[in-house]
Amino acid sequence: MNNSENLIPIFPKGEKASADYFVGNVWIKNLIPADETFHMVIGNVVFEPGARNNWHTHPGGQILIATDGTGYYQQRGSPVQIVRKGDVIIISPGIEHWHGASPNSKFTHIAVNPNVQNGIVDWLQKVTDEEYNNI
Ligand code: MN
Repeated sequence: MNNSENLIPIFPKGEKASADYFVGNVWIKNLIPADETFHMVIGNVVFEPGARNNWHTHPGGQILIATDGTGYYQQRGSPVQIVRKGDVIIISPGIEHWHGASPNSKFTHIAVNPNVQNGIVDWLQKVTDEEYNNI
């Protein structure tokens, strides 16, 4: 692989995500805002190593497309999964979950949120270090 390819991000870094809903440094670039035709929000999300979002659900479901680095994904009641560049995760409406970077790697995914007329996200509690490290 040509290593230099990995050094150039596809999308701008965007805005820093709120510490109310994320642990660590996370950057979100909104790519497609909601409208009355598609009812969909698409964003690019960059997690620094160790960073993750809080537990949450999506009323309309969510699709994550991993584009760089190594991340973690966990559904409530299931083990933490390692997510690699090229993986696609389909999250049904209402499923409690979190996603973020692994401890030693940045992680970037595209987040596709359909059916946003039902709501985009409902935030829950923070992911504890014990939960994060239980892998
Ligand atoms: Mn999510």
